[in-house]
Amino acid sequence: MTKTMTRLYWAATAFLLGPSVVSSLSQPSSNPKVSSQRVFVSTPAKTIRRLVSDCMTPRNKVHVLTPQTTSDEAISFLLTRGISGAPVVDPDSGKLMGIISSSDFMFKDYSGALLNMEGSEESLKGFVEVAQKICGTTVEELMSCNVFTIADTEPMAKAADIMARRNLHRLVVVDPKDEEKLVGILTRSDVMRDVMTTVRAALPEHAAASSSLLPDYGTTSVDIDKIRLSRAKKWRREDLFGNSLVDQTLDDLTTDQDFQITQQRLKTQGAAAMTKEERLQRRRALDDLGILSFESFLQQQLDTSVPFTLKRKVPPKVLQINIGLYCNQACAHCHVESSPLRTEEQMTTDICAQCLELLKSSPSITTLDITGGAPELNPAFRYLVSCARAMRGEDLEIIDRCNLTVLQEPGQEDLVAFLKEHKVRVVASLPCYSAENVDQQRGNGVFERSIAALLALNEAGYGHPGSGLVLDLVYNPLGAFLPPDQTKLQAKYKEELDENFGILFDSLFTMTNMPIKRFADFLYRRGELKEYMDLLQRNFNKDTMKTLMCYETISIGYDGKMYDCDFNQQLGYKIGAEKDDDAAKGMTVFDIDSFEKLQGQAILTDNHCFGCTAGMGSS
Ligand code: SF4
Ligand code: SF4
Repeated sequence: MTKTMTRLYWAATAFLLGPSVVSSLSQPSSNPKVSSQRVFVSTPAKTIRRLVSDCMTPRNKVHVLTPQTTSDEAISFLLTRGISGAPVVDPDSGKLMGIISSSDFMFKDYSGALLNMEGSEESLKGFVEVAQKICGTTVEELMSCNVFTIADTEPMAKAADIMARRNLHRLVVVDPKDEEKLVGILTRSDVMRDVMTTVRAALPEHAAASSSLLPDYGTTSVDIDKIRLSRAKKWRREDLFGNSLVDQTLDDLTTDQDFQITQQRLKTQGAAAMTKEERLQRRRALDDLGILSFESFLQQQLDTSVPFTLKRKVPPKVLQINIGLYCNQACAHCHVESSPLRTEEQMTTDICAQCLELLKSSPSITTLDITGGAPELNPAFRYLVSCARAMRGEDLEIIDRCNLTVLQEPGQEDLVAFLKEHKVRVVASLPCYSAENVDQQRGNGVFERSIAALLALNEAGYGHPGSGLVLDLVYNPLGAFLPPDQTKLQAKYKEELDENFGILFDSLFTMTNMPIKRFADFLYRRGELKEYMDLLQRNFNKDTMKTLMCYETISIGYDGKMYDCDFNQQLGYKIGAEKDDDAAKGMTVFDIDSFEKLQGQAILTDNHCFGCTAGMGSS
């Protein structure tokens, strides 16, 4: 047994039996009762050493309070969320100030007064006094400033040890470089989950077989008609269909401090100023690394005499239309900053109609790629799909960039049938095959809904070889790292999704996270932007230069403005304007009569383009 395993084992025992017996268990071998229950009897099948960061609830999911919250509000906050305590953070700096738990609401000097309502007049008076005192108090006056913290880089064994020894229900997790920076929370349940994972992994490989419940020879019943084959239950939660995710997303956003800070800045600074600031942050990160610009970097790498500029050598083949930023989700790394709050930015029918006109006059376009937000939630989606299919027949590939959970939104009950009827290729995001990771990036409950949606698509024929109904998945990393090898990851996805849920799909595409918008914010706040830019430029791959999507794509915004790609669109780099000229109108779909006219034009590039040239590039 490894030292870590031993410690975890004893920590688990301490949790199960209670802290009062921890000391009596400090000599494991002298306690025959306990040693007979030991499971670590031989070399563990797998050695795992999980860190606090692997098991904690991350910052964006932690419910926090501010010092100014009144005790009244704090009590209802805790009760409605079913939690017994929460960290207290400064709303401006985000610094950890203290912690509040249910016991802080019981004034120690009025011992029993809160519970003794039936006593004498005297005790009732005491109760009223205490109640008045509590109701008029803020969290700052009640909270405890002595917070037990642990860095997220510490091993779980250490966390379990501290919690067991001090009889703590939770530990506040902080940044190892800044102990006032809250990065998550670790509860007893997290420790127990981790202990169970460790215990299972520690079992020798043959343990499962030796405990098999299969009947031995001679004991099988002759009543063979009573024997039923059990099948893995298909996971399609019918009750999710027609059941909106929007309320929950909005609820999550109210407690997501990163999101709240961005909203506040959006209000005071405006979107253009924020994009400019974001560009400067990337620029500063590259300056620190001694990199001049993307164009100069290419000049160096490709050994050309002048800064290298990208050009559209062929007429565009892909028309990507972002028909609106409204989405029922609000994912942590969304590069378009969509959410249920983006209700205004929606494409109108006249712009849609003009896009269709241009599609008609641009035979070079062979793919119509519709994106958003959740594009299906804009009424223009079905109009665009049905007109384009009727106009261009089966020669045109139509792609729906689907977040999957949209299938369960009210009014979308017939969406799968619509997509099938119009032979729309579905390209869906699923950043992991584990619920924990998907929910962390895309919101609570998103994994379960995504699985249900994938099964519904499979039932309609999507993802089945030879059906002509293509279902592709998209992976993007959860944090500041590059995606793994696409072919190997696709094989792993196929195995996991088929084995666990019976899900089929065609291909998996890996995408590099672009250092823009929410992901750029995420990196900047964690002080990881420079490191990420360094990672991108360090992994520059010349081969990606042959297939950059901007060579063949035209991207249209919900307002009809034209861009070289979806990323440039989010940064406001318009076709027909200088990239730093935020005030310039740029070209719209009403300024041309065919997309083919854009052939030969230079493409606007900047430091975010390193995201497209790193590793295997971005699909
Ligand atoms: S990543 Fe997609 S699903 Fe998530 S918020 Fe953005 S647009 Fe919506
Ligand atoms: S971000 Fe990528 S696709 Fe867009 S212009 Fe830069 S290199 Fe081209």
